[in-house]
Amino acid sequence: MRDALMRNYARADLAFERGEGAWLYTEDGRRFLDFTAGIAVCSLGHAHPHLVQALQEQAAKLWHTSNLFRIPQGEKLAARLAERSFAERVFFCNSGVEAFEAAAKIVRKHFADRGEPKRHRIIACSGSFHGRSLAAIAASGNAKYLEGFGPAAPGYDQVPFGASNELRNAITDETAAILVEPIQGEGGIRTARLEFLRELRRVCDEFGLLLIFDEIQCGMGRTGKLFACEWADVTPDVMMLAKGLGGGFPIGALLTTEKVAAAFAPGTHGTTFGGNPLAMACGNAVLDELLRPGFLDQVRETGDDLWQKLEGLVQRHPQVFEAVRGAGLMLGLKCRVPAGEVIAAAQERGLLTVGAAENVVRLLPPLIIGRAEVDTALGILEETAGSF
Ligand code: PLP
Repeated sequence: MRDALMRNYARADLAFERGEGAWLYTEDGRRFLDFTAGIAVCSLGHAHPHLVQALQEQAAKLWHTSNLFRIPQGEKLAARLAERSFAERVFFCNSGVEAFEAAAKIVRKHFADRGEPKRHRIIACSGSFHGRSLAAIAASGNAKYLEGFGPAAPGYDQVPFGASNELRNAITDETAAILVEPIQGEGGIRTARLEFLRELRRVCDEFGLLLIFDEIQCGMGRTGKLFACEWADVTPDVMMLAKGLGGGFPIGALLTTEKVAAAFAPGTHGTTFGGNPLAMACGNAVLDELLRPGFLDQVRETGDDLWQKLEGLVQRHPQVFEAVRGAGLMLGLKCRVPAGEVIAAAQERGLLTVGAAENVVRLLPPLIIGRAEVDTALGILEETAGSF
């Protein structure tokens, strides 16, 4: 067969035929414990019966009608997300970067509508990742993502992640918003201090700016609360979701207040596929599970268990690992040896993990994993560390 795929991914030479819970199976019968969850997407694991049923039932009835018409499943999902967050309005799209684009656009339009079109700049953080569109790579400011794609889209500034003073100094009369991941994912599982998130809220209130949280990776239960910002008890004005919200079905969402949402009048922004019945059925099914009593408690408990065991691993293998980072089931192992080699060695032993910046191995298991799977993963990591 001709090799016709673009070469923009450095894929492992591994293909899976099916998945069940936290496990992935190859055609030749090998099985792998999936601590990537499709990069924080498969929140309920693979082939979760409730998600499969919701998708199958919807697929048998109706796939797509477009946003020319009402989509009751989307109205329901929006209302449920709003009920459990600061938000009053939700816009659905198909990916994280589309949620970012919607956020960047609504911020500009909000100030333009108020007669302040000059205010359009967004301050983001170094090490951040918001997707791969031209605007998103400009926002992150990371040379690695921008290289060869210049000139960078205008309107974005960066300050060091967690630096309140630099942030205050970066604000000008053109600043419209501050954009932050409460836990940086691609950036290396860097957790914002809760006080930094609270400070962001105070700064935004003081300067009349909008606060945008990118919870695309850290949201939807991954930290043991539905949204990571709940740990700091801080509410943003705009929040971006994607990944875990669909459990594997492509979906993105922008959540905001009534006041900010007013900027998106009919005809201002849209997408053909966004909020289609299939995606909405999946989003509702994922929420059914996440909101089941005890589900998020379980994520917290499993996350604590995993954290403690990883701490032990780091102590036993200080030549391989430096530290554990993160929260809930969004954890990172900062390595002293190349993280890529740890990932490859763990994969050979049947555990899938994913890299991040700062030489970190990311552990993003499905939220449904149990203690037995934590122990299996630790056994593999122990053996992996011993091989260095
Ligand atoms: N924002 C964050 C925090 C992410 O982790 C990602 C993807 O990794 C994105 C945005 C972009 O999402 P997508 O790849 O769905 O466009």
